[in-house]
Amino acid sequence: MEEGLGLKFWGTRGSMAAPFSSHMVYGGNTSSVSVQWPEGMAVFDGGTGILALGQHLEEAAARGQWDQTRKLHIFVSHVHLDHIMGLPLFPPLFWKAADMEFFGPGEGENSFRQRLGKVIGPPCWPISLEQVSAKIQWHDTRDGDVWNLPGEVKVRVMGSRHPDGTVIYRLDQKGSSVVYGLDCEPGEESGRMWEKYRRFAGNCGLLIFDAPYDEKEYCHFKGFGHGFWQQGLDMAVQCGAKKLCISHHDWKRTDEQLGEMEREAAKEAENRGVSLAFAREGMELTV
Ligand SMILES: [Zn+2]
Ligand SMILES: [Zn+2]
Repeated sequence: MEEGLGLKFWGTRGSMAAPFSSHMVYGGNTSSVSVQWPEGMAVFDGGTGILALGQHLEEAAARGQWDQTRKLHIFVSHVHLDHIMGLPLFPPLFWKAADMEFFGPGEGENSFRQRLGKVIGPPCWPISLEQVSAKIQWHDTRDGDVWNLPGEVKVRVMGSRHPDGTVIYRLDQKGSSVVYGLDCEPGEESGRMWEKYRRFAGNCGLLIFDAPYDEKEYCHFKGFGHGFWQQGLDMAVQCGAKKLCISHHDWKRTDEQLGEMEREAAKEAENRGVSLAFAREGMELTV
């Protein structure tokens, strides 16, 4: 594996999976991003896209190219359905040899595991988290946490502005870094949240920014907990991100519409000296 972090988008859609023929270029699966380095792998969110990652690992294990005992670190931003919908059938959960650590926000009296268990288990789902084969360690994540992973990796946590207790993550490894900023509404540029986000994402290698909207649409969705791509550009410029990826695409948006939006954004990004891409399912990057 080459130097740096190997990143792959397994799902890019926001709010709901949308596997329509008009959506296949940018993808219909909801959010999941894997980040790999020589000593480990982290996965951000378990949207429906995580199923393809699980299948990929299962096939790699059958070929002897993936060790099933290798620890998987799953970081969940929050328990809205689009970020956990792939977890109930994530193949490694059913490997006897699997060793996993789950990280996610609790809220009030409820731990992250308890919150997840309300959806993954009867009556919403036939198999509960107690019944899976993998060995799992559970952790609650809070604003300001720093988690150390093998291979000199640090994962930092920031409380997000989004309904129902949400966090965003930043992973750093030997000078490479990625900010996974789904789901988050940074709000006004003069506001405290904006400033906090700007510091959190400072000089990152890749900023994955939550933007299902553009600026014109945003006024209808203010307070919903999401941003727009023009904000992503502002944030990337202000925090000094080397690359910007827009994700959490609106589930209604077709490839044609997203393509048009991406072209407009890319033009604007070029004028401002930012390297920008709209995330596509299957897209791989080295950060
Ligand atoms: Zn979402
Ligand atoms: Zn959400």
